[in-house]
Amino acid sequence: MRRWKTLRVYCGSCRFMLYKYKKGGTGSLIKVHPDRVLHDFTTGMDVTCPECGNEFARKKLYRGKMVNYLLSGRTFNRN
Ligand SMILES: [Zn+2]
Repeated sequence: MRRWKTLRVYCGSCRFMLYKYKKGGTGSLIKVHPDRVLHDFTTGMDVTCPECGNEFARKKLYRGKMVNYLLSGRTFNRN
């Protein structure tokens, strides 16, 4: 059985909370899958911070789906 934990993703420059996310496994979050976002505080899975305009992710195609790749240093995540 897969264990999920809830992670909070924050903007690396202004600390605005961007997503609450359901993550499986260990290690830091890199790919944000839209279907695992519990709460989206941006404007519709946006890749820029609504508070300060920091670009914290890039949209990329992954296995036929669009996911947001978090740019390291632009975000920090916490359980
Ligand atoms: Zn910000």
